[in-house]
Amino acid sequence: MSTGDHRELVVVGASLAGLRAAQTLREQGFTGPLTLVGDEPHPPYDRPPLSKQVLTAPDRPPGIDLPVPRDLRARWLLGRAAVGLDPTARTLTLADGTRLPYDGLVIATGSAARGWPATRPAPPAGVLTLRGRDDALALRTALAAGGRLVVIGAGFLGGEIAAAAQERGLQVTLVEAAAQPLQRAIGTTAGAYIAALHRQAGIDVRTGTTVEDFLTGTDGRLTGVRLSDGTTLHAHTAVLALGAVPAADWLAGSGLAHDGGVHCDPHLRALRTDGSPLPDVVAAGDVARVPQPLADGEPLTLGHWTNAVEQGAAAAATLLAGHNPHQTPQPFTAVPSFWSDLHGARIRSVGLPAAADQTRIVEHDLTGRRLEISYHRAGRLVGALTIGRTGRLAPYRTALQEHLTSTTAAKTPAAT
Ligand SMILES: Cc1cc2nc3c(=O)[nH]c(=O)nc-3n(C[C@H](O)[C@H](O)[C@H](O)COP(=O)(O)OP(=O)(O)OC[C@H]3O[C@@H](n4cnc5c(N)ncnc54)[C@H](O)[C@@H]3O)c2cc1C
Repeated sequence: MSTGDHRELVVVGASLAGLRAAQTLREQGFTGPLTLVGDEPHPPYDRPPLSKQVLTAPDRPPGIDLPVPRDLRARWLLGRAAVGLDPTARTLTLADGTRLPYDGLVIATGSAARGWPATRPAPPAGVLTLRGRDDALALRTALAAGGRLVVIGAGFLGGEIAAAAQERGLQVTLVEAAAQPLQRAIGTTAGAYIAALHRQAGIDVRTGTTVEDFLTGTDGRLTGVRLSDGTTLHAHTAVLALGAVPAADWLAGSGLAHDGGVHCDPHLRALRTDGSPLPDVVAAGDVARVPQPLADGEPLTLGHWTNAVEQGAAAAATLLAGHNPHQTPQPFTAVPSFWSDLHGARIRSVGLPAAADQTRIVEHDLTGRRLEISYHRAGRLVGALTIGRTGRLAPYRTALQEHLTSTTAAKTPAAT
């Protein structure tokens, strides 16, 4: 697309991936009308600080707004949810009934916190979740009141919340159903290492345990939880950290394949339920379910910050290339990467440790807080994780990038 373009491009989901897509559209020369639709009332902000500095900052929480370029020239429709898509008529429907026509659409609606199972009684007041800015401020207020906190789910988010609360002087119990925290994501050894970090910091970690019931006082507020081993824990606050669910339900009836995220081809074009790609609809970020060469092409969503940024840019480039006979859409081949900070330890990973069938422990030193593990599938490197050894990740990243670039080029048919 070039100067004088009159096509209407719409980005739905006005956060990290959506903003990056919008920026890329402008950077790559799109000059036509551009609209960002977001269901939150806030302009784009960054989520990683929500479970870290926003909870621990002693005075005021830090600013977390994402920088929006002055020359973005976008129309912002904030506090407006998209509730339907008609890819044949090329219209997006908003909750207030507005119909937005588009020539190209970026879906970047991210994910939502997984709630308590609907088959169980609803959790009482005092049981919180954390996904957005308002959730983080509510949790910050609850932590400021002190007392006892139970965090349900010891994934990265649950672990960071537990660490932040412990730093603020609360008594914290972390309850995890699996034998180790993060077992499915990074394996037993790294999971046990992280459990040890939590315990060293004074957190009570209960693995192989689930929360069966919430206990309440006469005012209906949370007073404690009952665990699967029969014990009860007193609690002023509990946080559900049960993972995230891609925000794709609003696509029901659209003809797009959207179970567990928006299914995409390797160019990030959304797929119809018959598996054919839509040339004018792309997806990016937590909501996008993309074939992962490191997992033998299985379509997966990734809840990683870097992935949202890189896919936002790549999806925008695909959208523009679809309208320009001189450009060829490129398959998305970035190496996944993730970070987390726990009790002052820097956890970094590249690739897809969850796809591994074998791990190799290169260094394991709990006292020195150093860990290095490589992950393999059918004998081939698929990921690496370090704690306190960030500098060691570069060679793994290079090897993974070479593999991704060569296998994707060999397997991906040219986009038409
Ligand atoms: C508390 C927290 C801490 C994190 N820490 C880390 C970390 O340390 N490292 C890391 O790599 N990653 C981390 N992440 C993950 C990272 O923040 C996400 O991967 C990233 O935010 C994904 O960006 P996104 O734009 O795809 O989705 P989101 O940031 O979820 O944005 C999607 C936007 O779309 C909106 N939306 C949803 N449905 C609709 C609709 N129907 N209509 C209109 N708008 C809609 C949502 O409200 C939201 O504003 C963290 C996430 C959270 C929540």
